[in-house]
Amino acid sequence: MINEERLWGRLQLLSEIGKTDSDGVTRLSFTPEERAAKDLVAAFMREAGLQVLEDEVGNLIGRKEGVNPDAPVVLTGSHIDSVFNGGNFDGPLGVLSAVEALQVMNEQGIETEHPIEVIAFTDEEGARFSFGMIGSRGIAGTLTQEELLNKDKQGISIADAFVANGLEPEAIGKAARKPEEVKAYVELHIEQGKVLEGQNLSAGIVSGLAGPLWLKFILEGEVGHAGATPMSIRHDALTTAARIMLVIEEEAAKTGTTVGTVGQVQVQPGGINIIPGRVEFSLDLRDISEVVRDEVEAKIRVQAEQICRNQGVKLTIEDLQRVAPAPCSDIVKNAAKDAFDTLGLESNYLPSGAGHDGMQLMDLCPMGMIFIRSKNGISHDPAEWSSKEDCRDGANILYHTVLSLAVQKVNITTN
Ligand SMILES: [Zn+2]
Repeated sequence: MINEERLWGRLQLLSEIGKTDSDGVTRLSFTPEERAAKDLVAAFMREAGLQVLEDEVGNLIGRKEGVNPDAPVVLTGSHIDSVFNGGNFDGPLGVLSAVEALQVMNEQGIETEHPIEVIAFTDEEGARFSFGMIGSRGIAGTLTQEELLNKDKQGISIADAFVANGLEPEAIGKAARKPEEVKAYVELHIEQGKVLEGQNLSAGIVSGLAGPLWLKFILEGEVGHAGATPMSIRHDALTTAARIMLVIEEEAAKTGTTVGTVGQVQVQPGGINIIPGRVEFSLDLRDISEVVRDEVEAKIRVQAEQICRNQGVKLTIEDLQRVAPAPCSDIVKNAAKDAFDTLGLESNYLPSGAGHDGMQLMDLCPMGMIFIRSKNGISHDPAEWSSKEDCRDGANILYHTVLSLAVQKVNITTN
């Protein structure tokens, strides 16, 4: 069993770094706040008896050696960067629970066949450079020099930030792991939704991570005087966009699993007495099944074209991002299920609507996640909250899951 007080105390200590006026945290990657957070977590890792290092993409790593040091490593962890004025649990829970789990193993003299590493991944959130999961991309070996050119609002690129923090952009390839070197990855995280709360469960097993598809719709109609243009001859780009948005809502809802969101709309010229001539809006469409998601997309496209033809509006749809959903691996899901059973906790499966580092590791190793309940489903906000008891349950589940993936060695003593 993990030490609940120690875990909770560390969560509180970490929440002091980058604390905002509203009791949230702002810890963007490669800032003094993020550095201080890494130093604190490194100190916790040393207290836990782990070897501490940072790799070529800035991932902070704490390693517990295996009985067989050459056996593929079991990875666990999360991130300690945050969004602007975010919460105290998104990320830190997974890192600190993993440190806690390994500390308890060391205190109890538990040895495992496989080495275990806790990783605090560099920049999961993408809040600074609008490009996230930098550390996990580095470990997966998919991070490119071109991606390091993404810039923050001050014009500082990821490559610049690397150099300012003593990292060499040319060396990112050295952080990459090979599939034969990694047994599995498991991460504990807050749900950031209301499913577990609705089921009255402290924790659940993630079935898969929904991949976001981002599209940009561009509608070109005809500008006209709001007073002088009769309704019958208008080509209003905004009312046409509204019809498409209703189709998006309807088609996503029909599946029961797909979620579709229009979060950005730009209307031009934007005058109170001018018929909108041009509208751009975004679509974020997600499902843990790529087939289902793509079917919904196809239905939206067909109907959007039909609507635009009827309204005499020109339609262009641009692909902004197409991320494949990541199903969680049976190896990890089964290890987690055994952990729930060992602890006498009821288990249930739920999808993750949000993206996480595990998505980047999908092609490297078997990957899975465990969620704990989020109060009111709120995250990326100072009001983000999970109870001490739920954090304890999550950390205990992680402990048993990691132990079974790393294969506990049984000491047979003969008298
Ligand atoms: Zn997170």
